[in-house]
Amino acid sequence: MPLHRYTPQTTPCKLCGDGFDHPQSADAPALTACPTCGQQVARAPFQPTFTPKLLKPLSVSDAKTAGFKVFKRTSGGEFERQ
Ligand SMILES: [Zn+2]
Repeated sequence: MPLHRYTPQTTPCKLCGDGFDHPQSADAPALTACPTCGQQVARAPFQPTFTPKLLKPLSVSDAKTAGFKVFKRTSGGEFERQ
């Protein structure tokens, strides 16, 4: 379940500081009041945590483009630079 960031509408919340994270599904209605203190809150714009994902296996040319040295294992068990 994704975490949604809520920030208090007026002053920083005494109990939750400058905001809190609330786990809820993406299509659930947003909270309007802090569950801790009852102060009006607003859902902050979604800020995805940066999690790099490999969408596809890297090819040799991708690796070369990214500046990696590419080595190929030869039949003799040695590595040779491509
Ligand atoms: Zn609060």
